[in-house]
Amino acid sequence: MTPPLIGITLHSHTDPDRADLDLLINLIAQGVERAGGLPIFIPFGLSAETLQALHARLDGVLFSGGGDVDPSLYALERHPAMGGVDAERDRVEIALARWAVDERKPFFGICRGSQVINVALGGSLYRDLSEAAGAGRHSFAPEFPHGFLAHAIKVEEDSRLAEILGRPVLAVNSMHHQALRQVAPGLRVTAYAPDGMVEAVELPEHPFGLAVQWHPECLPDAPEMRRLFEAFVEAAGKRGRG
Ligand code: MN
Repeated sequence: MTPPLIGITLHSHTDPDRADLDLLINLIAQGVERAGGLPIFIPFGLSAETLQALHARLDGVLFSGGGDVDPSLYALERHPAMGGVDAERDRVEIALARWAVDERKPFFGICRGSQVINVALGGSLYRDLSEAAGAGRHSFAPEFPHGFLAHAIKVEEDSRLAEILGRPVLAVNSMHHQALRQVAPGLRVTAYAPDGMVEAVELPEHPFGLAVQWHPECLPDAPEMRRLFEAFVEAAGKRGRG
């Protein structure tokens, strides 16, 4: 049987964290491979027609981590703590996210991925966690390794995420300075950090529409994180056969 084809979005070549992101994007591809999927990266600079044709061939779309989404997309100005904004990346990912929702194609978001999906569907972000009253620390790079378990999450009952992870409380890594603010219509928050920040969302009734704020690709030995990749690839495989 042909493995499901998983398109993975890339970080920008101008992203200040690109050296780190080069590592993470390959860990994501390896996570997809280990879960039984066939990973490919989605280029920038394609016409809308070519991007749509590529999307049509994919069985699943994975939105990777990276720089900040342009806040003008949720009607705010640039914040001094922001970095790595790239208009082309925003264009590609927002188009892919909307198509994946409309066409019921499985999608999985990681870190920025959860943020860009939220913006694509009409939500907003804290441009920096200094804007969020009571927010704890969520940024641990570069002093701590990528797999550093930084804080707990509490998973909402009766969610796809709870079913996949199999436990209501879990320790995760954390490498973000932004977070979801206004959650987009249709998205359900399915995990919170102890400070109340959103750590996961999903799209109920969608074959697989799920996004997390942490980096499961950096915890490849944790069975819960492997199950996240496996559940996504399995959903993509069902679509491919359908
Ligand atoms: Mn966090």
